[in-house]
Amino acid sequence: MSLIKKNIRSIADELKKNNSQQSGKIKLVAVSKGQSQEKILDALDAGHNIFGENYLQEAIDKQKSLIEHKIEWHFIGPIQSNKCKSIAENFQWIQTVDRIKVANKLNMFNTNEFPLNICIQINISNEDTKSGAKINEIDALADHISNLDKLKLRGLMAIPSNTRDDEILLNEYKQLKLIYENLKLKYSAIDTLSIGMSNDYLLAIENGSNLVRIGSKIFGNRQ
Ligand SMILES: *Cc1c(COP(=O)(O)O)cnc(C)c1O
Repeated sequence: MSLIKKNIRSIADELKKNNSQQSGKIKLVAVSKGQSQEKILDALDAGHNIFGENYLQEAIDKQKSLIEHKIEWHFIGPIQSNKCKSIAENFQWIQTVDRIKVANKLNMFNTNEFPLNICIQINISNEDTKSGAKINEIDALADHISNLDKLKLRGLMAIPSNTRDDEILLNEYKQLKLIYENLKLKYSAIDTLSIGMSNDYLLAIENGSNLVRIGSKIFGNRQ
């Protein structure tokens, strides 16, 4: 068995163990940015078909060559508003919506019969250099998105502070969980809390995350 298959199976097993403790299933998005098409094919061969990409052109090139495979694509990179048309056309999930202008454009350019699944990216570490909506902008943005008929608000996405300090991380997870639970009370379609990457996903799911985005731990180092 290839290393990628082994990695996917062992992570999937780990997530399954946690399913029983959590309410509901934990979704795994394999982050394939900077990874070759051969590696994606390897993951597909292992039965995994949910992938995340950050860079539009790179993603579109891969999507073209993988067209005969049934793949659920997640956009997880920063969004430039002039790219919204192409993003709306090529992804089923967009996890990094952080402003009204982008939400409006994605809505306008979604010509599918089905709505686009949307997560609001929240800047939980509150650093100016990071993308994502600020905590005090979330309510208004969620309200706006929930009124757009071609978008379906599914939840929140965050990239926690890049630190090994568990206390800082735990505090961020706790805040995210609280904001998520509050949104869930208001909007019925909300079911997704996307936190957790290769270095912190176990801690993230212990603290309520039910979607993890894992790249290097599956595919190895990026090009
Ligand atoms: C690159 C990336 C990931 C995956 O990171 P790894 O540490 O390789 O697991 C997850 N989420 C986002 C938003 C990313 O940009």
